[in-house]
Amino acid sequence: MPGQCGEKVGYFNEVKSERISPEMGRKATIRWLISEKDGASTFSMRLFEIDAGGKILAHSHPWEHEIFILSGTVKIRIGSKWYVVREGMFLYIPPNVEHEYINAGTEQLRFLCIIPNKPTTTKRIVRC
Ligand code: MN
Repeated sequence: MPGQCGEKVGYFNEVKSERISPEMGRKATIRWLISEKDGASTFSMRLFEIDAGGKILAHSHPWEHEIFILSGTVKIRIGSKWYVVREGMFLYIPPNVEHEYINAGTEQLRFLCIIPNKPTTTKRIVRC
């Protein structure tokens, strides 16, 4: 709920968990903790929860990701390189670089992913 100055203070569980579509991933949900709907004009903060065996399929877009792993272990491909990333680690994924995630553990994977509300580049897809 918005506060008197437009702030939002909440608990993640109180934010609706939305299933990621089959075109985008498997066994994965997203909670939009903070977004334009809350009056945040520049950045959105999303919480992803991906069950064991789940994934986000390969995709790219003209805005970056800033990711922090809250729990679990994930294999992430950024361009042509795979990384194994676990709880406590963070990632920056530049705009227009193809990426995908696979829950590489036996427990639920949870990570924060912060994005700008508007595209941040007009560059074409980056091959790397
Ligand atoms: Mn992405």
